[in-house]
Amino acid sequence: MDAPVEEETVPGPSRRIVLAGALGSALNGLLPPEPARAAGTAAPRRPAFAAPFTLGVASGDPAPDGVVLWTRLAPRPDAEDGRGGMPDRPVDVEWEVAEDEAFTRVVRRGTETAVPGFAHSVHAEPAGLAPGREYFYRFRAEGHLSPAARTRTAPAAGAAVPALTVAAASCAKFGAGYFTAYRALAADHPDLVLHLGDYFYESDDGDVRDPGGPEPVDLAGYRRRHAHQRSDADLRAAHAVAPWLVVWDDHELANNWAGGDRARAPQRRRAAFQAYYEHMPLRRASVPRGIDLQLFRRVPWGSLATFHMLDTRQYRTPRGRGGSITGPEQERWLLEGFRSSTAGWDVLGQQVFFAPRGGGGHKNDTWASYPGSRERITRGWVEAGVRNAVVLTGDEHVHHANEIPLGDDGRTVGTELVTTSITSGGDGEGGAGDGGRENPHSRYREDRRGYLLTRFTPTELRADFRTVEQVRRPGAPVRTSASFVVPDRGALSRP
Ligand code: FE
Ligand code: CA
Repeated sequence: MDAPVEEETVPGPSRRIVLAGALGSALNGLLPPEPARAAGTAAPRRPAFAAPFTLGVASGDPAPDGVVLWTRLAPRPDAEDGRGGMPDRPVDVEWEVAEDEAFTRVVRRGTETAVPGFAHSVHAEPAGLAPGREYFYRFRAEGHLSPAARTRTAPAAGAAVPALTVAAASCAKFGAGYFTAYRALAADHPDLVLHLGDYFYESDDGDVRDPGGPEPVDLAGYRRRHAHQRSDADLRAAHAVAPWLVVWDDHELANNWAGGDRARAPQRRRAAFQAYYEHMPLRRASVPRGIDLQLFRRVPWGSLATFHMLDTRQYRTPRGRGGSITGPEQERWLLEGFRSSTAGWDVLGQQVFFAPRGGGGHKNDTWASYPGSRERITRGWVEAGVRNAVVLTGDEHVHHANEIPLGDDGRTVGTELVTTSITSGGDGEGGAGDGGRENPHSRYREDRRGYLLTRFTPTELRADFRTVEQVRRPGAPVRTSASFVVPDRGALSRP
């Protein structure tokens, strides 16, 4: 059975959680026994599969007591039917969480059933972990052991947090170059990674590497595209270093798609959303329902920061001052989040360029086409008394540091840091400057590939723009080409 994409409501895979340790032993006695097999009955034939953990492992959406653990069984990631070379039957996958990298102190264990209807993906949600600490996890399936990876839980609600390192990335076009930036991001050992969209590109162009088959239009095609992306070891290393908070932009479905396309190609939209869920470390709240997928969500990090992860694609209304890039419901949720926040830093993790451009030259699928939305959000910060407002942005394929004015051109009320692309745009022009002539709100722009590394403390946000010399050849050097600081309640400046 492989048809949930045709249904309005998708049942999640079944799950059972087994506790490890003394408590686990006590509770295990209470679990219902496995049904006994009648004597003399042969075990059902189970077709075997080759080493299935080719796509690596990932974690995401950390909470104080748990985190999503992800993998997908796919012995042949590029299989044209999108099934990854798996037999058409459910497979039990065990997971375990340990306090140490050698797995000598396992604190939680459980089993998920990976089903063909979800491409044999696994989304385990262990609970009962300790807040604000590092863990290691791995999976086992029918004798195969996955690579182990690091993750961490969020701090307890309201807890004081001395520091948090967050990497942000976007726009990883497989065909355009090597994911050297992901490798460097992993080496920086962030506590958390924000992926701000264009996780892959659906287009089949790219002259450096094979993009992974023709442009996807159906479930098999999107599954294959995701699997091809994960065949990259640098990307897998970035997933294995820290939990990710992911939001999509347009290319996870199609170039420049937005909510207005709702009635157009619903089958393609369902297929893209289904494959996105299957391949991302998302919670069960994000299991797609028909052509809808719940992606906007809030992740608090003690008293230090709150991450408001936005979906600026699915709910757009027509462009213009009266239009909304978030849709009214998400906007209400966001403004309420500002009012109830007591965080030192309120961080928007979102897709497209936010600050006004002044001199123009903006893409018409950014916040520039929705000035009313931007005005309501910047006023929302002021009215809610948000202590420090920060917007982290992808999509541009250029690094930017911007001051965000109240409304279109009022006083500065926030900071936008735009991360360039991992590979999109190729090696780039390399031009760097303050961007001031074309945009009065810009303090920096740089056309190189790379990612953004930020460090939040109660007294300061520091941002390092990390850049790769080139992406058309593997292994290019990575450096910090510019750094900025924002003191608590202060303005963007050079350190
Ligand atoms: Fe992009
Ligand atoms: Ca984009």
